[in-house]
Amino acid sequence: MAVQRVRTRFAPSPTGYLHVGGLRTALYNYLFAKRMNGDFVIRIEDTDQSRKVEDAEKNLIGTLEWAGIIPDESPVHGGNYGPYVQSQRLPIYRDYCTRLLEDKNAYYCFSTSEELEENRQLQLKQGLQPKYNRKWLPEEMGGSMPESEIRKMLDQGAPYVVRMKVPDYVSVWFEDLIRGPVEFDSSTIDDQVLMKSDGFPTYHFASVIDDHLMEFTHIIRGEEWLPSMPKHLLLYEFFGWEPPKFAHLPLLLNADRSKLSKRQGDVAVEDYMRKGFSNEAIVNFVALLGWNEGEGSEQEVFSMDELIGKFSLERVGRAGAVFNVEKLNWLEKQYIKQRPAEQIVSAIKPLLIDELQKKPFEMPEARITSDAYLAKVVDLMRERVNYEHEFVTFSSYFFFEPDSYEAEAIEKRWTPEVPGLLSEFGAVLEAAGDFTAEAIEASLKAFVAPKGLKPAVLIHPLRIVASGVSFGPSLYHMLELLGKDAVLRRLHRGIERIGQG
Ligand code: GLU
Repeated sequence: MAVQRVRTRFAPSPTGYLHVGGLRTALYNYLFAKRMNGDFVIRIEDTDQSRKVEDAEKNLIGTLEWAGIIPDESPVHGGNYGPYVQSQRLPIYRDYCTRLLEDKNAYYCFSTSEELEENRQLQLKQGLQPKYNRKWLPEEMGGSMPESEIRKMLDQGAPYVVRMKVPDYVSVWFEDLIRGPVEFDSSTIDDQVLMKSDGFPTYHFASVIDDHLMEFTHIIRGEEWLPSMPKHLLLYEFFGWEPPKFAHLPLLLNADRSKLSKRQGDVAVEDYMRKGFSNEAIVNFVALLGWNEGEGSEQEVFSMDELIGKFSLERVGRAGAVFNVEKLNWLEKQYIKQRPAEQIVSAIKPLLIDELQKKPFEMPEARITSDAYLAKVVDLMRERVNYEHEFVTFSSYFFFEPDSYEAEAIEKRWTPEVPGLLSEFGAVLEAAGDFTAEAIEASLKAFVAPKGLKPAVLIHPLRIVASGVSFGPSLYHMLELLGKDAVLRRLHRGIERIGQG
């Protein structure tokens, strides 16, 4: 028997930004498909036209591509199963709706929204779960509405929706790949609207038809869709289609185990992009929200290729996954530590060139934007930055003269003898032939020793005049990189500006 090619999909509604939960769903679908040498598809579910946001589709696909999740088929990439946007598939849904009506698995409903609301309130008052009261269920389908009434309304052109007829007293059952067997009692299921009065299908109807026509083998989506399963399964049954396999992913939780919400922090992938997180760290972080490699594995840093090699639905848990931003920060640092310097250099160069438009030049631009100079900044600062952009913002003293000096450090380190000592040591540096870290260190030690002073007396003030701050990488290496001209200029400017402290 031929093995069916695995096909998965991510089916976002274009209602705005990509939520981190959406990224996780897309990623798991992608990893699963790629692990099985299958296809990953993006389908846009825009059947709720009132919630549609301009450009959302482009942003969603752009954000996924930034994350390295490249679809095999999508509205942008094309494919053999298109169109991939539901609003372009309306005739398909209409045809299938006609079939359900003919087969008496669906019926027209002319109830007005006021009537529906009244009915809902009544049922709530009676302590019942609100459900459509089947006023328009035809006599021939077990209801009380004569066919002639329905005809009359149709002939008058009255607005209607089409509802599915949920069979009474049946149990609907399926085996979730993450949760195991799940069973529903049909009496809890509403006669779901399939076609709305605006001629658009509802999510439930369109997604089942598309999932079948696009030949998806596995539907991997958030747990919030689990309650919709009986409606979907009944539709498969009405059409005589074999349903795909389903996996419902655990909820994402805040640290206090409430459902992840905007109120407790950022939830849009774009927010994290804007803060400077890399695609590698975000993908790695999101992959671990519900999946783990298994007993005995200590590994936490996974590249996309490793994830593709290791991902399995069996290792996705059922319990909610806590969204821990600390972990994301930690992962980002791991990636910065291991990323090749050339890669960082080419990423930060445009940022630096931008900054150079805004501030006066101290050092020749060609020097500080050279790959060699930037690679050294990266080596010195790698352990100290949290995000890539901080190689420019946090290490700005490698590119610009400090425009202020940390007050606390001056208070602590700038004793009355410092200006004199500094300018005397400045003369020593000026005369020095060699401006390497080792040579600077040796001359500083040789300078303080005969005076009976400790190197620290000069080390701290030198750092302050050179960088403006009291912390940073190895002082001698920093001075070497800045170069003699800049160091001497900063030393004299510092004495002048800070004065006697
Ligand atoms: N359009 C639905 C959503 O926005 C898709 C749910 C599904 O994957 O079936 O999440």
